[in-house]
Amino acid sequence: MIVKITVYDGATTIGGNKIYVEESGRGVFLDFGMNFAKYSKYFAEFLNERSVRGIHDLLYLNLIPKLNIYRSDLIPSDLDMSAYPKLNVEAVLLSHAHVDHCGNIALLDESIPVMASPMTMAILKAMRDVSASGIGSEIAYFSCRESVGDGRVLSSSRSKPYKGRNFICTGGIPDELANFMCYRPGQEGRNAKKLDPGNICHVHDHDLSFDIDAYEVDHSIYGATAYILWGDSAIAYTGDFRMHGKYADKSREFVKKAKNASILILEGTRTSRKEDVNESEEIVFDNCLKAVEESKGLVIADFSPRNFERLETFIEIARRTSRELVVTAKDAYMLHAMECVDGVCRIEDVRIYQELRDKRNKWEELVVMEKWRDKYVDPTDISRNPENYILCFSFYDMKHLLDIKPDGGSYIYSSSEAFTEEQEFDFLRLYNWLQEFGLRIYGFEMVLEEGKPVPSFIRGYHASGHASKSDLRWVIEQIDPDVIIPVHTENPGWFVENFENVVVLRDGESYVIN
Ligand SMILES: [Zn+2]
Repeated sequence: MIVKITVYDGATTIGGNKIYVEESGRGVFLDFGMNFAKYSKYFAEFLNERSVRGIHDLLYLNLIPKLNIYRSDLIPSDLDMSAYPKLNVEAVLLSHAHVDHCGNIALLDESIPVMASPMTMAILKAMRDVSASGIGSEIAYFSCRESVGDGRVLSSSRSKPYKGRNFICTGGIPDELANFMCYRPGQEGRNAKKLDPGNICHVHDHDLSFDIDAYEVDHSIYGATAYILWGDSAIAYTGDFRMHGKYADKSREFVKKAKNASILILEGTRTSRKEDVNESEEIVFDNCLKAVEESKGLVIADFSPRNFERLETFIEIARRTSRELVVTAKDAYMLHAMECVDGVCRIEDVRIYQELRDKRNKWEELVVMEKWRDKYVDPTDISRNPENYILCFSFYDMKHLLDIKPDGGSYIYSSSEAFTEEQEFDFLRLYNWLQEFGLRIYGFEMVLEEGKPVPSFIRGYHASGHASKSDLRWVIEQIDPDVIIPVHTENPGWFVENFENVVVLRDGESYVIN
């Protein structure tokens, strides 16, 4: 049997993975993410693809592969898809809920199911519930598009219900999760659109051309999964992973199981870094704890909202320093989603920030407020006793400081470094906010580079979600594959220099196993 691996996207960029593995005319995608590097060539914050043109803009600009695999309701009348190859896609094997891995799934034909861990399913559903509609965020369920008059213009159908994506779950499906996937807050309203839930089945109850084993691995978001595809030759795919963190033993378990794999498709995010520092959540914990201990007044902790391990780190720091950790309502909703999977009530350990606004979204009103109204804390209360709190705020939450009006305090940047010039601009804005309220900064400083202020990051306040070079080396030596295909890296050359049997595929190129 001939197996063909085609990397449609994400070969030499960090993210955007769209890897197709096919045998006898049927196959599966390994992730179907959004490629930020390519996307930002054309688009920016106020210049996005147009929802009313369906997939037109992304397809035209080569931001998604020119294949005939997309939802028919997203194809405007002036887009001719007939010339593009039609693949028989049986499923997308999703590694985790970061947008650079899942962000283009919503565009795929609705008959294509998504294989994911229970935690990833819950996170995707919560992400969809809290986001304003837009094609990209519609992974767990989507609004059907239709044209009224001009066939080139597609708008959300008012009469048709939301359509849930079909999922193939790699783990147990607790009733709470099954119910959560079917319920859209506010759907019982008289004029509200209902949710027509997708089908959810277990991986062993679904027939695919490859036998697939899913393994949980550690990454900076919970629910990350690596896969092994068993055919004539076994193919292992790491997704994004690291060998440290709370679930490092699970990463090691995957490596052990992948020893029979002849093809290894693995990420190399950190291969373009000069140094190979050993980072760990323990070091982050120690440094951030020290920073909070020596802080007077308010503390703000800035970390990625879906980095739940970091959230748990700060819950523990808050406990040790007799402060309360305050999260946004969106974060609280995400914690609710996670509880549907593992039964752990994390909201018990936090407070919820009461934003000053005239109207609450249904998901907040009907779920978060309904269940945890007593957890809410008003900005005035924080103003009165800022030393009692650690606020989980990021750049986009800075506006709320205008209601709290802190006078001094600390800000801890516990997230990844800026990669692009635009992100550097955001840091300058962030810096201005922090200066305005006299907040001492941990985790970065502004320095002048050629007369321009740029952020310089201080180690120890963040640990990467990705494997270090020495860990990648260990993984490759352990698995000892016949062929290594690096993806999710800007430096595939590192693999070529260090290992034999490396096949570097550029976007669109294939490797055939005979
Ligand atoms: Zn990731």
